Amino acid sequence: MNTSSSAAPSAPPSAAPSPRTQVKRAANRASHDPAVLHAIIDAAWVCHVAFRDEHGVHCIPTACWRIGEHLYIHGSNGSRMVKRLADGECCVTITHVDGLVMARSAFNHSMNYRSAVIYGRFETVGEYGNEVSKRAAMEAFMEHLVPGRQEEIRPGNDKEYAATTVLRIALAEAACKTRSGPPEDDEEDMAVAAWAGVLPLREARGTPVPDAGCRIPAPDYVRRWQE
Ligand SMILES: Cc1cc2nc3c(=O)[nH]c(=O)nc-3n(C[C@H](O)[C@H](O)[C@H](O)COP(=O)(O)OP(=O)(O)OC[C@H]3O[C@@H](n4cnc5c(N)ncnc54)[C@H](O)[C@@H]3O)c2cc1C
Repeated sequence: MNTSSSAAPSAPPSAAPSPRTQVKRAANRASHDPAVLHAIIDAAWVCHVAFRDEHGVHCIPTACWRIGEHLYIHGSNGSRMVKRLADGECCVTITHVDGLVMARSAFNHSMNYRSAVIYGRFETVGEYGNEVSKRAAMEAFMEHLVPGRQEEIRPGNDKEYAATTVLRIALAEAACKTRSGPPEDDEEDMAVAAWAGVLPLREARGTPVPDAGCRIPAPDYVRRWQE
């Protein structure tokens, strides 16, 4: 799932905050460490991309993956999002919810999470001479989804690639925030007779369901899906 092994040259990592990635609220939960950002992106299937057009602000969920110091997305050439992102600034977010934090007071309830906010402008992959080709980016996407899958399937043809736009945004201006651990109750609430602790949440992998017409025995990556 991690596509970080790409040899693609890297943009500068987001080590220092900019004015808009300087976390002010609960700043003790902030990180600008590229390794934290990479881990949050690599664990994600989906990001949300916020952008503005003549009708206002939109925030659209879409699949994402990482190669080196860029986050990648793709879509149909006809997609409004794809067309607008080439024109201007946007903000990408990723959120993983790891648990519900049950405090003794209503006020101190919280969530455990890992989140990332990335600012910048997407560029089109395969044009303007950037070093990752559209095909290489899409193959990295398939490997991010299910390692080993790319070797088995029919690769995209010229017509399919021509109908698809791949975009990437540099991870140069980004902030992460993470919370973990127990509730933080006020001292005067410690005697309240309420259960306190964390109700963990995690994504579950279900049992693979073969397509009705599939006569192929399950390959390793399918048999290992739930491990
Ligand atoms: C699962 C989840 C649930 C949350 N629930 C609540 C809630 O119910 N109420 C609430 O007030 N807040 C909640 N938060 C925290 C929320 O995301 C904001 O961090 C918080 O509201 C402060 O926002 P702000 O714009 O005032 O922060 P500021 O500190 O002013 O933000 C400054 C900059 O810090 C960065 N930043 C801010 N928040 C995040 C973040 N979460 N991840 C990465 N970068 C960030 C951005 O670059 C932002 O521009 C939740 C977060 C998560 C992940």
